[in-house]
This record gives sequence, structure tokens and C-alpha cells, in this order.
Amino acid sequence: MLSGATFSITTFGCQMNKHDSERVSGMLQELGMRPVETIPEADVTVFMTCCVREKADERLMGQVASMKNIPLRPASRFSKRYVCIGGCIGQRDGAALLDSLPHVDLVFGTHNLDELPHLLQEVVEEETRQASIIDGRSDFHDALPESREQAWAAWLPITVGCNNFCTYCVVPYVRGREISRPFEEIEAQARSYVSEGVKEITLLGQNVNSYGRDLYGTPRFDEVLDAVSASGVERIRFATSHPKDLSDAVIERFATLENLMPALHLPVQSGSDAILEAMNRRYTAAHYLSLIEKLRQVRPDIALSTDIIVGFPGETEEDFLRTCEIVREVGYTQVFTFIYSKRAGTPADEMEDNTPREVILERFERLRALVEEGALAANKAYEGHLARVLFEGEAKKGSGVAMGKSEHGLTVHVQTESDEAVQALAGKILPVQIDESKTWYLRGSLIS
Ligand code: SAH
Ligand code: SF4
Repeated sequence: MLSGATFSITTFGCQMNKHDSERVSGMLQELGMRPVETIPEADVTVFMTCCVREKADERLMGQVASMKNIPLRPASRFSKRYVCIGGCIGQRDGAALLDSLPHVDLVFGTHNLDELPHLLQEVVEEETRQASIIDGRSDFHDALPESREQAWAAWLPITVGCNNFCTYCVVPYVRGREISRPFEEIEAQARSYVSEGVKEITLLGQNVNSYGRDLYGTPRFDEVLDAVSASGVERIRFATSHPKDLSDAVIERFATLENLMPALHLPVQSGSDAILEAMNRRYTAAHYLSLIEKLRQVRPDIALSTDIIVGFPGETEEDFLRTCEIVREVGYTQVFTFIYSKRAGTPADEMEDNTPREVILERFERLRALVEEGALAANKAYEGHLARVLFEGEAKKGSGVAMGKSEHGLTVHVQTESDEAVQALAGKILPVQIDESKTWYLRGSLIS
């Protein structure tokens, strides 16, 4: 019934969702469906949603509401467009979404992604609407078919869920308890990616450092890194790391594993010990800085990025200045800054929060200026140096500018003569001379 039908996927949120979208795409293609780029071309539209912050919630609701005004594609053999909501909002709200959004046909959650094909078939064949959510699962998802956005780069989930319960965060409630993927399966998946020509593997998990804790503490994340490194893949990255669990053994790997890229995303969230405690992060600013020092000792050129929340309940000017201090001290190449967003059901939602909105916005702006200044300074250090760039595609359609990522995870732009030249570079790792640094990217030229 669905064979030959077209589908589009709109993804919100983190890399885990992006990877889940690749799996949705793989499963729907196994049904004989064809992926299309835009909603107007699609018979079936899937939204993979995020509820980490309120903004993502609002954007989803806006987009789904506007679906009503998009006409069916002319060649459609269906009497309507099927709208599906998956991911974290699907998990959180379940059947309530069918009530509030009458043109939504199917809601599924984070734990039953694998059921999507048959749920969708039921909706179409039986002309019903349905929500199917399960509370959690005790095993890791079996390997699902996937259709990767880029043939040469793959995400490899090693854990799902989170046990940390940072007080602001909804992830443990919508993604469930942490489950580690069997070690042998990770090894086999890495080897299979390499045989398919994958050049970069990014290991995924809400907190990759605690890998193995549910497997009686062993194997550990450093052993996962060794195994993936032994697959011979050219580049390894991982996200996300929790500072409280970043072990010396993992830090060591930045010196010993040649294919582990010299870049680490290590979310600090705040530079104030009082706020870190209220967030239940379970480390201090001093501990965080000691990790940075160790990392720089083993890998002096390591590029560091982070996440910061501004305006957590009770944050004072003093607390905020501590955050600014840590930003200055570390010298991040990239900082993702977020304004604290109240999430129902989390402990922070109950905390007294009387900082005026204008004060929070003003702090946010100050931090943003500091981050930009820092990123520009960090990028300046690459000028005149050689970078090895994995090219991904065009920076902007029709520009002839090829875009890729350096080993330090920085975006690099290279001007070419034509769109064809850009296409020819995609998927290759080549040396580039860095000529100029901007705030958010570097400009360079290919070394012939
Ligand atoms: N597991 C990862 C990612 C969690 S979500 C980690 O621990 O780093 C990604 C980022 O969103 C977090 O690092 C945090 O900075 C931000 N975030 C999470 N909940 C938030 C909230 N309620 N308000 C504002 N930012 C939030
Ligand atoms: Fe959320 Fe904290 Fe878990 Fe990250 S570690 S997903 S911020 S609870």
C-alpha cells in the first residue's frame, strides 16, 4: 500500500534525533517508499521532535499547524497527507497530541522507533489514527536499517537514555534509563562501516563516558574507543561527555589513538559551584578546569567546545561572572549558549526563580559577545597552519565554496572553480592551508 509513496522527515534537536531520522528513512525505504526533500512533495511527513527547551516545542506546534495549508502533491494517490510525530515530544505527550492536533495521524515514541513501519501501514490501510508509546525498554534497539545523510560519515549510538537527572533536564524522562549497547555489536558495527567506506564515526550517547555501567562496569568507554580505533576508521569523535565521568584513561586516548580527533565537547553548564550543585551536575568548576588541564597536557592542540545555561533559577550576577571567567580561561572554539527553559516535571521547575527576564537576556547577550570574541581568538591560532579537512559539500548552494571539517572539528571553507569541483571533493580528506579566520569558520586553500 505504501510502496512508491513519498516521505519527508523534519528533524529537531540533537544528534541522537538526527540519527533516529536516518533510521526512520531506512525503515520507510525498506517499505518501498521514496525520500523527498520538502513537505509539499511528500505523501507522508514525519516530525522527529525535541522537548529539551520550550522553543523547540513551540516550533513544532507552529510547523504542524501550518501543515493544514499545504496542498496534497498533484501526483498523490492518497486522499490526504499523513502526518506522524515521533521523538521526544511524541514520547512525552503521546495520545494527547491526537486530541490537540486533529490532522496528525500517528504518534510514536523514542522507545518504539522500530514499530513505525507497521504502525504507519495500519494507519493507512485501516484509515485510523493512533498513538503508540511504550514506557521504556530493557535492551538496546536491534540494529535498524538506516539511510545516512552522508555516505562517509556515520553516527554510532553506544548508549541510549540517561541516569544523571540534571535538575533542569527532561532527557531522562523521555529517553529513559541508560542502556549500553553490547560491546561486540559496537565493534562489528564499526568494522562494517569501515568496509562500506565510512571515514568518520561519531559515537553517540547522552553521556558516553558512563558506557558499561549497566554491564557490571566493564567494558568501559576507553575500551570502546580502543575497539573502534582498531577498526581502522580514519576519524573518531564522540558526544556527549559528562565532566564527572571523564576518566584519565579516556583523556589518555587523545594522546595514544591516532584516529581519535583532537576535539572534545565537554558541557560545563555554569562556572559557579552553587549553581552546578543546584543543577545536580556533581562536579565543581575547579574539577572541570583540572580536566581541561589534563587534556591540554596530553594533547596541547585539543579544541574544546561546551554548553552553557544562562538564568538557571537563583543565578546571581556573581554566579554569572564565574561562568564568564571559565569561558575566558578555557578558550573554547565553540560555545552553545541557552537561556534556561522551565520544563514541567523536572526538579528545577519547582525552584524559586525570581531573576527578572531582562536581567537574564542582558547576561545572555554579554555571554554571547564574550563567546564570539573567544571563538575568533581561538580560530586565529589556526591561520597559516595546515588542516586536514573532510569535505562535506557546498557551503551555500551555487557558491562554488566547498565546506568541510578540520580534525579540530572547525568548519573550513575553500573556494573552487565550480559546483562540480565541490561535488568532487565531497567525502575526501585533503590538506588545506588556512589563510584567514572568521568567528564561525576558517577560510583556506587546497594544497595541490
Ligand atoms: N546529554 C547531553 C545533552 C543534553 S541536552 C549533555 O549532558 O551534555 C543539550 C544541552 O541543552 C545541555 O547540555 C544543556 O546545556 C541544554 N539544556 C538542557 N535542558 C535545558 C533547559 N531546561 N533549559 C535550557 N537549556 C537546557
Ligand atoms: Fe540531561 Fe544531564 Fe543527562 Fe545531559 S547528563 S541528558 S543534561 S540529565
